[in-house]
Amino acid sequence: MAATLHDPKAGRTLSTHLDHRNPLVFDTHELGRRPGALQRISRTVEAPADLGIDGVVGVPQGAPVEIELRLESVMEGVLVTGTARASAEGECVRCLEPLELALDADFQELFSYPDADDRGRSKQAEPADDAEDEDDTIPLKDGLFDLEPVLRDAVVLALPMQPVCRETCLGLCSTCGFRIEDDPDHHHDAVDIRWAALQGLAGTIQDGEKDNMSGTASDVQRAAEKQEK
Ligand SMILES: [Zn+2]
Ligand SMILES: [Zn+2]
Repeated sequence: MAATLHDPKAGRTLSTHLDHRNPLVFDTHELGRRPGALQRISRTVEAPADLGIDGVVGVPQGAPVEIELRLESVMEGVLVTGTARASAEGECVRCLEPLELALDADFQELFSYPDADDRGRSKQAEPADDAEDEDDTIPLKDGLFDLEPVLRDAVVLALPMQPVCRETCLGLCSTCGFRIEDDPDHHHDAVDIRWAALQGLAGTIQDGEKDNMSGTASDVQRAAEKQEK
């Protein structure tokens, strides 16, 4: 577990140490600091909790996430370019059926050497600019970096805010809530709701009065009006 504490001077939260046993923490020692050096890393990790868009669609906790990284040593630090692939689960916003979609999230982040960061700070005067610079890069800690915040941002960007089971999903019937995908022919005869009630009444009248089999619409309406009095 990496403990975090807030450094009021720097105005940001600092992790004291990263745990190299955390599968989302990567080590850059093997890469070295010679600019241009490259290293590729593939790793399958278990999805951390709440990876996705809260309440909409996300990767279930513990589900496999395939991560492919390309680490490149640059002057300021390590440029990490990568892809995360996983299966996300959610619910169609139109028909509310559960859905599964293939997540393919790309990301790129510069993890900077803390000493390179310090050098820049002493040369450039404006503290306000510093604050902005720090948002652009994440410092390496003892040669380690935590991919989790980068992964989270990339996953949220790659997932749809309004997932649908199919682009053409017809959603639910506005009259009865039936899932129209299950029967595209689903429809209701276009009748007024009040008229539909009268049709139901016609059934009961016909059951009672077998002699009145030729009951027309106006007959039924009259019968209904009688019933109301
Ligand atoms: Zn749907
Ligand atoms: Zn319906």
